[in-house]
Amino acid sequence: MAAPASCSFVTVTKRMACAWCGRPLEQDRRPGRPKRYCRRSCRQRDFEARRRARELGLAESDLIVARRQVEGLDDLLFVLGCAIADVETDLAVDGSPEQLRRDVDWLLEAARPLLGASERLRGGHLAAGADGEQAS
Ligand SMILES: [Zn+2]
Repeated sequence: MAAPASCSFVTVTKRMACAWCGRPLEQDRRPGRPKRYCRRSCRQRDFEARRRARELGLAESDLIVARRQVEGLDDLLFVLGCAIADVETDLAVDGSPEQLRRDVDWLLEAARPLLGASERLRGGHLAAGADGEQAS
């Protein structure tokens, strides 16, 4: 069933994200400090990471990650870069709707694995500097 013509606008609102895993946060309408974490385990992991960062003398912007995680992310970005190059080449020769569809599918296939990469990176790192606050 087609969407009615009146649905042609999309409202985009800025969503808050968990300070640890980056998942979207549902904010309570109750008064008080806004939530920073989606779950207790995220709050705890962030707290532990900040404590560990202080112990190691890391700056807020420092992040320690395993080499294999960076390499995994690099591989995903390489695939996405190849897909972009393929699409640019394809579209220079053939801008037909069919080609566009194939290119969009290829780009989505190359980009989807990156969706979980950030969370896996955060879940696997040893320590990260944050904003210096205590977990709330
Ligand atoms: Zn979270």
